[in-house]
Amino acid sequence: MKNVIISFLFMLAFIGQTFAQTMPKDADPKLWAQALKIHQKAIIVDGHNDIPSPMYDEDFDLATNSVGKFHKDGDPFHTDLQRFKQSGITGEFFSIYVSGSSLKTGGAMRRAMDLIDVTMREVEKHPNALLFCTTAADIRRAKKQNKVCALMGIEGGYVIENSLFALRNFYRLGIRYMTLTHNVSHDWADAHRDEAKNNGLSDFGKEVVREMNRLGMLVDISHVSVKTMSDVLDVSTAPIIASHSSARGVADHTRNIPDEILTRVAKNGGVIMINFYPAFLDIKYNADDNARSARLKPQLDALREQFKDNQAAFNQAESKLLAENPIDIPSYTRIVDHIDHIKKVAGIDIIGIGSDYDGVPLLPKGMNGMEDLVLVTYEMLRRGYSETDIRKVLGENFMRAFAQAETVAKINSRKISGEGSLKRIK
Ligand SMILES: [Zn+2]
Repeated sequence: MKNVIISFLFMLAFIGQTFAQTMPKDADPKLWAQALKIHQKAIIVDGHNDIPSPMYDEDFDLATNSVGKFHKDGDPFHTDLQRFKQSGITGEFFSIYVSGSSLKTGGAMRRAMDLIDVTMREVEKHPNALLFCTTAADIRRAKKQNKVCALMGIEGGYVIENSLFALRNFYRLGIRYMTLTHNVSHDWADAHRDEAKNNGLSDFGKEVVREMNRLGMLVDISHVSVKTMSDVLDVSTAPIIASHSSARGVADHTRNIPDEILTRVAKNGGVIMINFYPAFLDIKYNADDNARSARLKPQLDALREQFKDNQAAFNQAESKLLAENPIDIPSYTRIVDHIDHIKKVAGIDIIGIGSDYDGVPLLPKGMNGMEDLVLVTYEMLRRGYSETDIRKVLGENFMRAFAQAETVAKINSRKISGEGSLKRIK
């Protein structure tokens, strides 16, 4: 009984905090209360959070209050333990992101190892708030325990350094998805923003996908070229994901997913987890931002030179210059425009959430950090989405795809990787 009372009090505290912080001025209070209720009950899975990089590079601890704090490059923080609580997130994918520059410098696998360790140690440090998770069942367990599941995904397929041996070990360490590229093409997969080297996936790339299916590691098509997306869908026998990509039909950006792929993902049983970055949500913002950067380049270069030994002073001067040259930032409601579009093209069952918190320089207007996630629930409710559909988008679609990938792996578990799948390329 005592536990019930405590969790009830916790629930009230939780609702109070979220309500007070994020209700938009023009919101309907009744609908807002309903949104909070749905949001609080739901399993919420976010496909992509880049916080492990600052955890390693800047010694950032999740217990720190990060509201109003900035990364060393001047971008605001979106994540901390308190904000997790306010967000309602049940499962968060901590991104083991390794830059494509490692293809030149080497050290990709070492960097991934460091980020995995820093993530695991953060979970060990905060056992009352976080739970290390590797399965769909773990995520439901975390929800019951009022904890946030820390899951991990690799961003940049070159991290396995062309070794299926390494891929399997990453799975053993708890990696449950791998984004096949970042922004550059590499030995076996082509990226969205680079020249094609493999006409999509190479033969080895296809082997990587099959081995990921066999293990139960989700294949992530964010950042890859359209031909790579198509090749993945030809090969994968398990549902795939886009861990943090929006719809090209709404914002024609190469980071987004075209309609013809959306319909194929619907057949595959996968999930497109929508990215919140304004440049991917709204192509006009992207164009305005690029035009502003080009226009201000001489001034920014001069500031960079002036403050070359003082990053904080540069950040401040840069922010001031940008504030003096404002551009329109799309509202959080734009996220739901992408949800509307994907629903129309391929159905509600393939939509998820992939914020890109702490990986992007800003969030849509109205959102300061993860604590404002309930706005998506509110806007969906305002547009007439049912509770069932809202819960699908918030997490249940991902849960279905993840569980299905686990089933595919179970079916394949008797197949031991043979010579062929151990092949490496030089
Ligand atoms: Zn990314």
